[in-house]
Amino acid sequence: MSQPRPADQGAESDRRSELIIEGLHAEVAGREILRGIDLRIRSGEVHAVMGPNGSGKSTLSHVLLGRPGYRVTGGRVTLDGVDLLDLPTWQRAQAGLFLAMQYPIEVPGVSLADVLAESLRAGGRDPAEVPALVGAEAARVGFDERFLSRPLNVDLSGGERKRNETVQLGVLRPRFAVLDEIDSGLDVDALRAVARRIEAATTEMGLGVLAITHYTRLLSELRPDHTHVLSRGRIVVSGGPELADELELTGYAGWAEEEEVVGAQAGAGGPSRLAGPAGSAGLAGSAGLAGSAGAGPPVRPEIDDPFGGPAGAGPGR
Ligand code: ADP
Ligand code: MG
Repeated sequence: MSQPRPADQGAESDRRSELIIEGLHAEVAGREILRGIDLRIRSGEVHAVMGPNGSGKSTLSHVLLGRPGYRVTGGRVTLDGVDLLDLPTWQRAQAGLFLAMQYPIEVPGVSLADVLAESLRAGGRDPAEVPALVGAEAARVGFDERFLSRPLNVDLSGGERKRNETVQLGVLRPRFAVLDEIDSGLDVDALRAVARRIEAATTEMGLGVLAITHYTRLLSELRPDHTHVLSRGRIVVSGGPELADELELTGYAGWAEEEEVVGAQAGAGGPSRLAGPAGSAGLAGSAGLAGSAGAGPPVRPEIDDPFGGPAGAGPGR
């Protein structure tokens, strides 16, 4: 794994931001999925989040952006002190948060150009910039500019959708990006281009990144400063870039295990069979972020979905 990027290399370093997740608990369909997440991400940092299927990684991304149906039952999420959990999705996007969804959805009748123009206008930028910005961003990740006028994601391949998300990120210039398996569906060349574009954004625009992935091939270009393992709704171990390498060799054995089959003893909170902080000290030495299971603030109301469905989950759209 590569070395962490040099400090103070970034442009826009005058605009240091911080995304803080504290004791985040959330449930979906009446079942607790996130069970006390703590993360602190600063401008320019890349945090890789890895973990077995069903551990709550996508749920974390949805909760951060306020997807309807996901109910926060405790904890706080702030961006430079602004409490995001009280805001509807579009305001979270305006505050500087971006989500590249694991499965970008088709939006018939709305073009990429429409989406980006509206997003720039809402952020006080000039929508006339869109074609030039998209041209530059598309070239960086090998995305076909012809898609600009086509309905968003309609009939695009998985890899094209991921490049499309990356183009949107580059144009919108968020402060923090949550990338939910941005590597899935990309061929080797596209993966390298996308990872390089996002890595460059960490210095060009001071982007902070929460990168959910299973594979270090993403992380060889998008270099993590911190790696976290999420298991059964908690971060069970955190470390540096070497932890991702270690996981590639060992899998999650000893750190986490597959989530129970849906429907089986839902959210029972029985004795944890995870390797706890004691068991993990030998590898990363910095486990112990899994705490803060204490009582959080009152349950928040669900945010209304302005798009009438999961389609609203994406920021800046
Ligand atoms: P990961 O992204 O780590 O693979 P997810 O966050 O997608 O995991 O899912 C975590 C758990 O929450 C899984 O057991 C999944 O079935 C459940 N879950 C997620 N979303 C929903 C939903 N909308 N309705 C019911 N269960 C859900
Ligand atoms: Mg997922």
